[in-house]
Amino acid sequence: MSNDTHNPLDPAETREAAEELLAHLHRVGVPFIPLPNAERVAEWESRFAVSPPASPSGEAGVSAASTPPATKPAPTAAEIGDEVKTPPRAPTSRLQPVESFSVNDDPYPGVSLPIADRQQQLEQLATTVSGCTKCSQLAKCRTQTVFGEGNPGTRFAFFGEGPGADEDRTGRPFVGRAGQLLDKMIQACKLQREDIYLLNTVKCRPPGNRNPEPNELSNCREYWEQQLQILRPEYIVCLGAVSAHTLLNSKLSIGRLRQRFHQYHESKVLVIYHPAYLLRNPDAKKAAWADLQMLMRDAGLVT
Ligand code: SF4
Repeated sequence: MSNDTHNPLDPAETREAAEELLAHLHRVGVPFIPLPNAERVAEWESRFAVSPPASPSGEAGVSAASTPPATKPAPTAAEIGDEVKTPPRAPTSRLQPVESFSVNDDPYPGVSLPIADRQQQLEQLATTVSGCTKCSQLAKCRTQTVFGEGNPGTRFAFFGEGPGADEDRTGRPFVGRAGQLLDKMIQACKLQREDIYLLNTVKCRPPGNRNPEPNELSNCREYWEQQLQILRPEYIVCLGAVSAHTLLNSKLSIGRLRQRFHQYHESKVLVIYHPAYLLRNPDAKKAAWADLQMLMRDAGLVT
């Protein structure tokens, strides 16, 4: 029997799966779910968090497929906005990461537009979206649509899930606590907000910050598809499971989709944990930083 059979569950991946289950239970109407007992959670995490087997050289050994690139420096509080609270530990996922997804490797339809024309087309599309009522519940609940914003000539599009309360109030994407962490992550990549473009899978806030329903994702799809077609970014960074699943047409966990480039038309797609997830699970910031380092190296932002 291989050692893989005995590998422990990865705490971040386990937590992610549990959160997906909770979101599902909320969606199907389970009215009350007790909060986790922090002591018991810590106890179970410590049981799962055994060290990986030692290699012949005496160093901790992990499989090549699950090893993040050996990059320096390690994340710091200044780099991704908070201290990594757990001691560094090699990833111990039971499951090997998947091969890359290629959703559609054809070029984007149409022609690449000059920047001024892109801006004009995005503004026209935003006007259309602002009057959209395809999702009756979302259209009724929203204060305003949150179309997206950023540099129309960008190399990098960051693709999130949907607006929250702060975004609904201001009409701008990623302005709440998660947005502030995303700003720090972007700055750690040696970029500024003005350098990138931010958009979401749905343009209206789902009530109570629930996940968007499948029909809502489907209704709003044409808008983000058009945005990406206009922008033609070199890289799309999917923030969290909803955007990754929507773009890549996959149901795999972030733990299995991250650390490799997928493809959407001519854009390279990287999947990372959502900043809101990182706020709830600071120990996953180390993985997010490894993913961002991979992006920076590939994009030539660092050598
Ligand atoms: S979420 Fe998208 S498709 Fe649904 S009402 Fe809002 S803009 Fe229209």
